[in-house]
Amino acid sequence: AKELGRNRFATFHPEFQDKSSHQSAVIQALRHSLRNGGFRLKLQPKFDIRSGQSGPRMIGAEALLRWNAPGLGETPPDVFIPIAESTGLVRELDAHVTKMLVGLLAGWNSDGGPCPTVAVNISAQSFQDTRFAERLLELLAQNAVPPTALSIEITETTLMKRSSSASDNIRSLRAAGITIAIDDFGTGYSSLSYLQRLPLAELKIDRSFIARIGGRDRDGEVIVTAILLMAQALGLRTVAEGVETDAQFEWLRSEGCDMVQGYFLSPPLEPQEFIRLYREGRAR
Ligand code: C2E
Ligand code: CA
Ligand code: CA
Ligand code: CA
Repeated sequence: AKELGRNRFATFHPEFQDKSSHQSAVIQALRHSLRNGGFRLKLQPKFDIRSGQSGPRMIGAEALLRWNAPGLGETPPDVFIPIAESTGLVRELDAHVTKMLVGLLAGWNSDGGPCPTVAVNISAQSFQDTRFAERLLELLAQNAVPPTALSIEITETTLMKRSSSASDNIRSLRAAGITIAIDDFGTGYSSLSYLQRLPLAELKIDRSFIARIGGRDRDGEVIVTAILLMAQALGLRTVAEGVETDAQFEWLRSEGCDMVQGYFLSPPLEPQEFIRLYREGRAR
C-alpha cells in the first residue's frame, strides 16, 4: 500500500520534491478539512447470503471516507489514513467520520422508515483513548440514535497491544449493543487469543484471501474454509470482503459464509442512494 501511495503521488503530484513534502502537504490539508469540511461518506452495502433465503438481502453498510483535499484533489484513504495515523490526526478524523455517520443515522431514525446498521472504521489509536466508548455512547444518545444502528470495524493491530483501554472500550461498546467486527482478518501478525478473550461479533475475511477462491487455487480455498470453520466454532458471524465474481460469491454461499460485501453485489454508494435501495428491499 505504501508503494502504491508513492506511485500515485509521483504520478499526480510531480510538483512535490519528495515524500516528506507530500506528507506535510497532506497533513496541512487534513487540518484544513477537519476545520472547514471537505470529507464525504460513501456507503457500501453488506448482504446477508445465508441459505434458506431467496437471494442476497441488504442488511446494512460500511461507511468509507472520501476526501477532496484542498490543493491536492481527490485523495484515497489508503494514502491519507496512514499519514493521519503517523501524526495522531487520525483520532480527530475518526471522531469527524463518526459524527457525519451519526448525523445520517439520526435523520433516518427520525423519519420513521426502516433503519440499517452501518459500520464505521476506527483506528487503533482511538481505542487507546480510555474515554472513547463513553464519548461515542454520549454522541449516540444526544442524537437519539440506538447503539444497534452502529457497528465498528477494528483491525487486529488494535487488539495486538493487549492494552486494557482497548479491551475496556470493546466491552463497554458491546454491552451497549454495538457490534464489533475484526477487519482485514488474516493480515495481522497477532495471536488468535483475542478472538476468545473479547466480545467480538463479526470476522471480516480480508480481500486478499477472497481473491484466491472460486478458481483453481485449492490452497487459497482451504485457508478460507478453515477461517469460516474457526469463526463458526467461536460464534462469530463471517463477512467476506472484496467479492468481485459470481464464482467467488457461489463458493462462499456453498461454504456457509454469512455475509458478503464487494463490487459483485454493489460498489460504495452515495448515502441517499444506499438508503433508497435499503428501504426498497424492506418494502418488498
Ligand atoms: P477496508 O476497511 O478494508 O475497506 C474496504 C475497501 O475495499 C474500500 O476501499 C472499498 O472501496 C474497497 N472495495 C470494496 N469492494 C471491493 C471489491 O469488490 N474489490 C476491490 N478491489 N475493492 C473493494 P477504500 O474506500 O479505498 O478504503 C481503503 C481503506 O481505507 C479501508 O479498507 C480502510 O482501512 C480505510 N478507511 C476507509 N474509510 C475510513 C475511515 O472512515 N476511517 C478509517 N480509520 N479508515 C478508513
Ligand atoms: Ca473496513
Ligand atoms: Ca477490510
Ligand atoms: Ca483493507
